[in-house]
Amino acid sequence: MQAPPTYTQVDIPSEAGAPDALPGYSDSSAPSHGVFVPSAGVDDKLPNHFKINNQYVKSQVMPSDLEAHLVLLGAFHRLREEVRTFKGKADISMEPDERYAVFLQRAVYRFEQWAVRMIGGEGQEDEGVGEGTPRVLATNEVPPLDVMMVWHTYMLNPRSYYEDCIRKLPGLFRIGSFALIQLSGSIDRDTLLFHPPSESRVAAFSSFTGQPFDPPTNTTSEDTVVVFCPSCSQPNTIPWITYKGDGYAQRGFSCVCNSCQFSFSRETLGVRKFYEDMEKCIANPEKYFMAYVVNPLRRLSISHWQ
Ligand SMILES: [Zn+2]
Repeated sequence: MQAPPTYTQVDIPSEAGAPDALPGYSDSSAPSHGVFVPSAGVDDKLPNHFKINNQYVKSQVMPSDLEAHLVLLGAFHRLREEVRTFKGKADISMEPDERYAVFLQRAVYRFEQWAVRMIGGEGQEDEGVGEGTPRVLATNEVPPLDVMMVWHTYMLNPRSYYEDCIRKLPGLFRIGSFALIQLSGSIDRDTLLFHPPSESRVAAFSSFTGQPFDPPTNTTSEDTVVVFCPSCSQPNTIPWITYKGDGYAQRGFSCVCNSCQFSFSRETLGVRKFYEDMEKCIANPEKYFMAYVVNPLRRLSISHWQ
């Protein structure tokens, strides 16, 4: 068998020189505090075109993108370990993975509040979803690290993300892509800690979402969430965790409504959500059930069901 030909650099139609070894990861610039500043000259080390099948193809990802992504992933990992190994006061004892699972539930909730209330939820489609140039995330809209983490994970499932943006998160759709450079710029690349946010950024997040800016790395039985009763729609203030294991973030969640005494679980809330989606679809043929947007064969009008 003949050995494959060795790689030889093609003539690149650009000013880029021969690729050298990439600079060390710690080759950092001054803290950016808002926009990620890549290591000096990092992108100059890579040709900006590659020859593939006699065609020149532009680089889709640059070393500076990879560097920014690594900073972000490093900060996510650091936060995860901080939650799992929490050493402070905890009134309900939990295993590290259980502690992290509760944290994730709260992070998803905080992401929803940010995406719907601050970036734009259902009913705010007027500005032409998916049309025109995507807008840039404003400085005060850059969320805390736990919210970033949920957003990042959400986008790893592009089908669900696209569909949910169309159905209920038009504000995220208008942003277009993950704000990697802005989000990574909020993180110290050496310590992987969040740069202290400005007062206006903290105030904006808190006023829109009703949540503190800092991620809740510890949850006690006194931390609560407001859940609307699936029967009478009245708000109920529910602990995230209880000694009994029926808190909102726990596997055995159950609640008796303070207003109508209806007993409900996560499954009941799911049925209520389905009912609300159906109401919307009946009232407006432009609305779709989950999993009906992307696959056109399943994109049936509600009239088919009647
Ligand atoms: Zn009720």
